[in-house]
Amino acid sequence: MSKNMDSQRKKCWDVIVVGAGAAGLMAAIQAAREGAKVLVLEHIERPGKKLLMTGNGKCNFTNEVLFHFTNSQDETACEQYYHGTCPAFVLPAIKKFDINSTLNFFDELGVLFVKRRGGYYPRCGQASAILSAMLMECGRLGISIECEIGIRSIQKAENICKNEGNSGTKKDTGFVIETKTGTYNTRCCVLATGGKSFKKSGSDGSGFLYVERIGHKIQDLVPALVPLQSDLAFFKKVAGIRAEISAKLYIENTRYGIESGELQLTDYGISGICIFQLSSLASRALSRKKKVKVEIDFLPEYTDEQFLVLLLERVHRVYANNKTMEQILVGLFAEKLGVALLEEAGIAKDLMSFELSKKQVNRLVQLCKHFEVPITATRSFEQAQVTAGGVDTSEVFSETMESKLIPGLYFAGEMLDVDGICGGFNLQWAWSSGAVAGQHAAATAKSQV
Ligand SMILES: Cc1cc2nc3c(=O)[nH]c(=O)nc-3n(C[C@H](O)[C@H](O)[C@H](O)COP(=O)(O)OP(=O)(O)OC[C@H]3O[C@@H](n4cnc5c(N)ncnc54)[C@H](O)[C@@H]3O)c2cc1C
Repeated sequence: MSKNMDSQRKKCWDVIVVGAGAAGLMAAIQAAREGAKVLVLEHIERPGKKLLMTGNGKCNFTNEVLFHFTNSQDETACEQYYHGTCPAFVLPAIKKFDINSTLNFFDELGVLFVKRRGGYYPRCGQASAILSAMLMECGRLGISIECEIGIRSIQKAENICKNEGNSGTKKDTGFVIETKTGTYNTRCCVLATGGKSFKKSGSDGSGFLYVERIGHKIQDLVPALVPLQSDLAFFKKVAGIRAEISAKLYIENTRYGIESGELQLTDYGISGICIFQLSSLASRALSRKKKVKVEIDFLPEYTDEQFLVLLLERVHRVYANNKTMEQILVGLFAEKLGVALLEEAGIAKDLMSFELSKKQVNRLVQLCKHFEVPITATRSFEQAQVTAGGVDTSEVFSETMESKLIPGLYFAGEMLDVDGICGGFNLQWAWSSGAVAGQHAAATAKSQV
């Protein structure tokens, strides 16, 4: 152990941030900008590994929709973009450190950005720009970042800073963080250890263990922004096909959402951004043993009646003479998909189109417009972009991110029971909650000196 590291541990920090991801680095920067002495503890070999994976390596770091949040009092608006036991929990933090604050923050750090389909990205096309800019700012502010630190426990303690400028008149409480290599004292602690998805990025769920031990409740952790599985044999026949569709999510036969876009058909079920957007609600419902179904409309630009007319017109047009039903569907659906849909409707692919009965036409229309997919499970955390569930937000102050149970303890980012839809909403939550937690932790620490 180097002498330098040893003295770091003996020192009393104003704020220790656990987890050097998006939320943790933002919390550290904001705390240091408020004048706090800040240390970041990270358990893998380098900070910000998950940030590098975001937006397919391009980092969609916020979304223009969030401009509406800046002046919004409408808590129900949150439910469109954020999920959790209480989606409105996000509003105070996202208003305090809003999209303008995010854009200004990265602009000041030198990141030139561009907007694509509502999402903001670094113009250079590299997520690493966001991480490097934040690490440079940590360096400028004198924030220490220690990697490969395995934490054993985090405990509330008294007299933690007795040798460090405490006047003796103020209550000297804080936290002792025990690690495999030593003990750290701090006045305030920000926990930002992320969720459980993509373990290799460092977020392995270990942070939730300390939180539970310290007395906080954790809402069930389930994968979100994740593909959905089904047992239907249909999917083995159409794996690899992509189709423009709309999809409706039903939980116990009540409709909960509708999304449109590109569907990716796989041998286990359905994937693609439109499915990811429905997956958080589906995942939570499945964990509660509820019946989940997705209804796919393979031709959303037509009503049922319009599609019926279109189909009959194709069957009766002159060029349809001597065509089989498989041939009639060519040009309407990807070929493998057309054949699979015919099979599902019980129509032989080599049936001559003029032989098609009224009943068969109606069945085909029903199937193409309302294809029911019973969902049996989600894919694993290793295919999930985020984790739904986490630290129970009813035990955290939404204005400050401070624990209601343990003063001086703050939370930020994905470890809270908040998950956003695709498109930059999760990173905005990391920036907003991280900034608010860091600023308030610094203020609390200062008030103790
Ligand atoms: C493939 C992929 C693509 C994504 N793309 C986007 C996108 O384009 N836009 C968007 O908004 N969101 C995206 N997300 C989601 C987004 O990356 C996360 O929501 C966000 O990174 C969460 O930030 P966080 O700081 O809370 O957690 P993380 O970024 O997971 O950081 C947590 C940190 O804590 C560390 N840690 C964990 N446990 C401990 C411990 N016990 N002790 C010490 N350190 C610990 C981890 O190693 C990690 O460095 C994507 C996610 C994935 C997986």
